[in-house]
Amino acid sequence: MDRSAAQSLLSEITDPRVRRAFLSVDRARFVRPIDVGHAWSDCALPIEGGATISQPSLVAYMTERLNLKPKHRVLEIGTGSGYQTAILARLAHQVFSIEVHPLLAEHARQRLDAMRLSNVQLHCGDGRQGWPENAPFDRILCTVAFPDLPKMLLKQLGPEGCLLAPIGGKHTSQWLTRYEQHGGETRTQCLIPVRFLGLRE
Ligand code: SAH
Repeated sequence: MDRSAAQSLLSEITDPRVRRAFLSVDRARFVRPIDVGHAWSDCALPIEGGATISQPSLVAYMTERLNLKPKHRVLEIGTGSGYQTAILARLAHQVFSIEVHPLLAEHARQRLDAMRLSNVQLHCGDGRQGWPENAPFDRILCTVAFPDLPKMLLKQLGPEGCLLAPIGGKHTSQWLTRYEQHGGETRTQCLIPVRFLGLRE
């Protein structure tokens, strides 16, 4: 793993737990063999099924914005390569992740099993419905863009829970948006403009 390249991506990340988790997961394990030499370039890279593994500095940024605690149960929508999932698993008690594409789900499972991350449960299916059997979650992270507020997912957040999702269309601008539950109210904060894949049905 190119530690100095990885470290240089962390300039704006102040939480030492997030820094450690980020540096403990080698992105080279999650990219296609042909891209291993670029694994620590700060850009999204293509993976199977027309999907992309997110830009590492953005993965670090989103992880920090979740403010994860070791006791947290986290739901992730859009497992993709499993890279973000592995980082979440280093920081939270349990991670539930949903991927709609069967081949991506299978490859992510193999990678996460090889890393012996026993606190991850993967499900192949449509993440728009969330995972009601395992709700409530302390945190929900979407790494695929939703056209608008994912109401079904918000219902699966526990008290004081927080949901982070790119909101916007496939061809219009998207904003990484943070929804926070506070005494029965939902606070919404638009963080940064982003570009994520749109939801598949
Ligand atoms: N976080 C991933 C990248 C996710 S790319 C990583 O680190 O590699 C977005 C992923 O969302 C793709 O894998 C895509 O197949 C998946 N996706 C798209 N629509 C979905 C849906 N309805 N339910 C679950 N996953 C979906």
